[in-house]
Amino acid sequence: MAHKVLFLDRDGTINEEMGYVNHLERFVLIPRVGQAIQLLNQHQFKTVVVTNQSGVARGYFPETLVHQVHQKMQDLLRITGAHLDGIYYCPHHPDVGNPPYRQRCRCRKPGPGMIEAAVRDLDIDAARSYIIGDRGNDIEFGHQFGARGILVLTGYGKGEWEYLRGQWKVQPDHVAQDLYEAVQWILLQESKGG
Ligand SMILES: [Mg+2]
Ligand SMILES: [Zn+2]
Repeated sequence: MAHKVLFLDRDGTINEEMGYVNHLERFVLIPRVGQAIQLLNQHQFKTVVVTNQSGVARGYFPETLVHQVHQKMQDLLRITGAHLDGIYYCPHHPDVGNPPYRQRCRCRKPGPGMIEAAVRDLDIDAARSYIIGDRGNDIEFGHQFGARGILVLTGYGKGEWEYLRGQWKVQPDHVAQDLYEAVQWILLQESKGG
């Protein structure tokens, strides 16, 4: 049977929101993120990061930095015995920079490309999934493929929730202080039979 999956936004959800992570030193984990992901690993969830990194198209940093940051993310998570099963990023932007990074791609959220790639690469059931992010458009993105959405109040979350939620087409299924509390809520839903 295909695995349950949790899709995770990166900036503001896993690591502190810094604007663009344009240097390795600007990647700092939010407290308890390692413990949260380790719990998901233990409960047979596949954990998949989906992140827009248009800073590449904008010329703010090279694509190689994205790889270095993701290596650092996995290394830091490993300290708490946690791992991510997939990491997908979109380096593109539709209007800014030069080709090939300037393009109307399928992968930039809310496009479906990163989810399609994850479904192709991993044995997952996107219909039995959750998405966690710090912005309303993360929730809207997940809604397109049937994921239940949880807004975290880290990163942009608090401001989005306070000032923008009236404009959202899709409301989150739950609002959590941080990723750790979001995962607690998910495990509770699962224990009730989903
Ligand atoms: Mg974010
Ligand atoms: Zn893309």
